[in-house]
Amino acid sequence: MTDGLRRPVTALTGAGVSAESGVPTFRGEEGLWRRHRADELATPTAFRRDPLLVWEWYDWRRRLIDQCLPNPAHHTLASMEETLSPFTLITQNVDGLHQAAGSVNVLELHGSIWRVRCTACSHVSEDYRVPLPDLPPHCPECGELLRPDVVWFGESLPADVLAAAWEAARRCRTMLVIGTSATVQPAASLPLAALRGGGTLLELNPAATPLSRHAHTVIRAPAAQALPNWWEAHRFG
Ligand code: NAD
Ligand code: ZN
Repeated sequence: MTDGLRRPVTALTGAGVSAESGVPTFRGEEGLWRRHRADELATPTAFRRDPLLVWEWYDWRRRLIDQCLPNPAHHTLASMEETLSPFTLITQNVDGLHQAAGSVNVLELHGSIWRVRCTACSHVSEDYRVPLPDLPPHCPECGELLRPDVVWFGESLPADVLAAAWEAARRCRTMLVIGTSATVQPAASLPLAALRGGGTLLELNPAATPLSRHAHTVIRAPAAQALPNWWEAHRFG
């Protein structure tokens, strides 16, 4: 069986799953903001140097994402969670569109753009205001600078979320890898852990990635179109 749906099922998503919702990926021209590349802004060094600039970028991204709706790929993954057991959704996205589509248990490897965290007292809270009234924002508890509760380049991932993701990767029989360039570590290694555990990999991505040669099934198409079709063909299989 090369393209079946053997359980447990784990899905790993990246920026590509939200591309058809209108959220730009980081790679490519549309990922540029005021001529800055994302990997120059999403770093602790950039934030130390110029917190206002980094916050302006995040405020711009929050406004953009606020205008976006989940697409059929997000909805299909929410339906998989309802139908399949066990099913685990791991995402590198920070946009909250999986939850907006109805997914409940989402392992957010890189945090959420809708949460803020204090740089001094570590107070974390949700904040959906668009735009934020004062930039850069300050902690309601201690008055120090807040930062987005996301993982920046060079930072560690939340240990509990990462441990749960490794576990779901190791034990799954099918892993769906959707819309990720498979270049950002450690997320890019999760599919390899699934392979080592005897799982079957399906890659859904219009472009080739370093993972492609390991995948048992490759679907070269945009996720919003291809994932619902694939699910229809396999959900009762
Ligand atoms: P990436 O930008 O490196 O790669 C995106 C991948 O999606 C590419 O391989 C591309 O071919 C593919 N793709 C493009 N359109 C697609 C479509 N319609 N359907 C399926 N695939 C499509 O993204 P990444 O691998 O997630 O890594 C970048 C990092 O940037 C992550 O850490 C993530 O946290 C962050 N990021 C998040 C968002 C978001 O939350 N939506 C957006 C941009 C970047
Ligand atoms: Zn504080």
